[in-house]
Amino acid sequence: MKRTWTRSILVYIVALAFFAGLATFCARLVLNNEAWVQQPYNGHTAGSGGLAMAGKIYDRNGTVLAYTEDGERKYHDDYLTRCSLLHVVGDNSLNISTAIQSLYRTQLTGFNYIWGLGMPESLKQGNDINLTIDADINRAAQEAMGDQEGAVVVYNYKTGELLCSVSNKTYDPADPPEITEENEEEYDGVYLDHAISSEYTPGSVFKLVTTAAALEYIDDIKEQTFHCSGSVEILGNDVNCHSVHGDISFEEALSQSCNVAFAEITLQVGAEHMQEVAEKMGFNSNFLISDVPTAVSHYDVTEADDNQLAWSGIGQYTDLANPMQMAIICGAIANGGQPVIPYLVEESSSIFDQLGLSSGGGELGDRMMPEEVAKELGSMMRYTVETHYGDSTFAGLPACAKSGTAEVGEGEPNAWIVGYIDSEEYPLAFAVVVEHGGWGLSTTSPIIDATLEAAILSLDADAQ
Ligand SMILES: [Zn+2]
Repeated sequence: MKRTWTRSILVYIVALAFFAGLATFCARLVLNNEAWVQQPYNGHTAGSGGLAMAGKIYDRNGTVLAYTEDGERKYHDDYLTRCSLLHVVGDNSLNISTAIQSLYRTQLTGFNYIWGLGMPESLKQGNDINLTIDADINRAAQEAMGDQEGAVVVYNYKTGELLCSVSNKTYDPADPPEITEENEEEYDGVYLDHAISSEYTPGSVFKLVTTAAALEYIDDIKEQTFHCSGSVEILGNDVNCHSVHGDISFEEALSQSCNVAFAEITLQVGAEHMQEVAEKMGFNSNFLISDVPTAVSHYDVTEADDNQLAWSGIGQYTDLANPMQMAIICGAIANGGQPVIPYLVEESSSIFDQLGLSSGGGELGDRMMPEEVAKELGSMMRYTVETHYGDSTFAGLPACAKSGTAEVGEGEPNAWIVGYIDSEEYPLAFAVVVEHGGWGLSTTSPIIDATLEAAILSLDADAQ
């Protein structure tokens, strides 16, 4: 009797262990299936870095940017187009973590844990992705960037569609380089999408933030006159200007980008209001662009003395901005103070239909400034273009813009231009940054001109 009892206990223990193991396995299968199936040792997906069975990626015009043929992942025919889209589309690897082929690899391959990878072709229509990007605009921006490093962003500030996003350095996704110790300097930072994941000293493009703060908090700012003798001493250190502007009005101070005037304006606004206005425009936080967070930009004058505060209002000190964020700020100015957040993946993409995901795009962001301030700031940016840059810099479109030449620790300054087109037909906001590009306007104007030229062709074709 005793022996039977012992045996029964043993059987119960073995049975319990079996079911516990089974439960653990099932739980892990459900939780980890997506990760397991993407492992390189899975022969079903191993070809083309796991993309052997992946769906197509289209641009806004139905141009195929990536597709699979005979188990091999292929990209657009044109070399420059491929290079321009590397950070948006991605390559066969997962090195560019923010690219579509990295983010949505599971959905692209049509994997789910009922069918695994064996979903019948008839049901497998659901793994294509439609992007808002225009391959032609991207190519034009890439060509104009040449081998200069930096980023170009253009989006529709009414709808939020991201039309152009270029990050340089880049490489050909159809022929990715093998990065070794010898060439790693050449490819340093190449996996980073500079449009979305990088931050740069903004220099004078930050004067848009300071101008908005002045319009909001200094009652008589439009009546004030400033005096620039080339530099001003604050707490024993000079704030230098690139020129000697003499007596200068608020409007002229922005359009001629006078540092001495802006040092004084920043001190009048004061640290508290500067901090508040910068944060309303997205500094010290970030934006979600179709599931990808932008780099967190930086503005902090909580510990700054007056000299540092003055430099912060000129976009120096510890200020850092992200190109996508600067385009969003310009989109907000165009929209009377409230931005539409850019997005990249169309909701009509079949994977979104099938999985019930939201692209999260085209949504209204938090108001960045009062409507009156946006209006005034916009007309000052328009005045800047009319009197200094010229519409020819923007493919003949009526632009409202601000350039920047941002001093950085070593080497040439970063060159910037940001702005928007004040037009119902071409509602475009943009940001261009060239690392160590030198003088802002002369470096960036051929890039924004060529990019907008391509955008006009694209939007005209849409309208027909
Ligand atoms: Zn000056």
